[in-house]
Amino acid sequence: MSSSTDKASAKPRPTIKAVRGTRDLLPDQTPLWNHVESTARAVFSRYGFGEIRTPIFEDTSLFSRSVGEETDIVSKEMFTWEDRARAASEKAQSLTLRPENTAGVVRSYIENKLGETGALQKLYYIGPQFRRERPQRGRYRQFWQIGAEVIGPPSSGSESPLRDAELLEMLAAFLTELRITNWSLQLNSVGSSEDRARYNAALREALAPIKDKLTPDNQRRAETNPLRVLDSKDEADQALIAALPKIANFLAPDSRAHFEAVLAALDACAVPYTINPRLVRGLDYYTRTTFEFTVPSGDASGLGTQNAILGGGRYDGLSEMLGGPRAPGIGFAIGEDRLILTLQAQTSAASTKKLDAYIAPLSPAQNPAALALARDLRAAGLSVEVGDGTFKLRKSFDIADSLARHIILLGEDEVASNILTVKTFATGEQVKISRDEAASQLKA
Ligand code: AMP
Repeated sequence: MSSSTDKASAKPRPTIKAVRGTRDLLPDQTPLWNHVESTARAVFSRYGFGEIRTPIFEDTSLFSRSVGEETDIVSKEMFTWEDRARAASEKAQSLTLRPENTAGVVRSYIENKLGETGALQKLYYIGPQFRRERPQRGRYRQFWQIGAEVIGPPSSGSESPLRDAELLEMLAAFLTELRITNWSLQLNSVGSSEDRARYNAALREALAPIKDKLTPDNQRRAETNPLRVLDSKDEADQALIAALPKIANFLAPDSRAHFEAVLAALDACAVPYTINPRLVRGLDYYTRTTFEFTVPSGDASGLGTQNAILGGGRYDGLSEMLGGPRAPGIGFAIGEDRLILTLQAQTSAASTKKLDAYIAPLSPAQNPAALALARDLRAAGLSVEVGDGTFKLRKSFDIADSLARHIILLGEDEVASNILTVKTFATGEQVKISRDEAASQLKA
């Protein structure tokens, strides 16, 4: 070793931390995540959805064109980098970590010509998304979404209000299955792109005389994209926002009829909802139905102020915005991190499943036999942890009690006789079991 290496190793090196807004999910947390994800897979497949996995990074223009240049996501929150060409045959390209997954799914729908089958596509995804937001409880820079999209050519029925209601009813079923009961569904229609253009003009007019009283971000939005003022979170502007015209008064008859048909189908399925005329949602591609599921905010919900656990809406023009064929669609994205926080607050500490057995060799001489026994029990489907013969018996019992339902003591006699000593923690009972019968007797 050189002397410079010696010096370097003498001084403790600074530790490297997870990047701001990102976090590790450790084994005591992941069981709940897996439970939520497997429930989503089970429920969604009952409604005919199949899984899609799209890349985590995409061409930047995919998001600027669909989500919209003026949105917070595109203007401030994307992780974007210039990817250098590595060979003369390659071009430099601006790439972005996906801030949401709908744009990627619709790109894939177009690229893989899924519309050419003529069938309605029902697709779901589960995966991380990335936004450079100010981190707080329930808001991260890498967060997970579970989402679904229903998209297809108009002839497949993709525009039908039945699809909107079915998707919302599926979400209600999913939350109920997870035993989340205190949700409320906020619903609105933002109309067709023509309705929105008329509404935007009315908003611009209403905002002009009060513009100076708004916060700087909203002053800019009042000019560039007045609709965005409505989903501003700025407390100071809320009273002014409440007095602005409502989109319901700008819906053309067909948009209104579509919305009413969605409501009628929800009534038929007994899915409760509240109409929220301010719910325009932060992405430009939404048309007609928009929705959000919220839980009461505050500590009891586990969420603090971030009380929207999922959001979505219809995006009838998105495929064309991305150069594809006409393909109306509707989708949602559940904030999995927030859903988990809600579940943790509602159910007392998720009980972590105990292992079937903990094998405690009584001295290092029994370590090989302990490992062989563990192999046989695991092969028979049991979950097993093996201790170490250098542990004291008391310590082995303590570890075993915290990890497993049974402890198997393995001393010289047990190895020689193939008769194991087993204690069951729940009953305190200690018995002798033949090694061959251990697997069948110790199964939960
Ligand atoms: P959006 O794509 O903005 O409609 O978000 C859909 C859902 O994703 C929201 O209702 C939140 O539950 C969740 N979400 C959005 N941004 C974040 C974030 N930075 N951290 C955690 N969850 C988020």
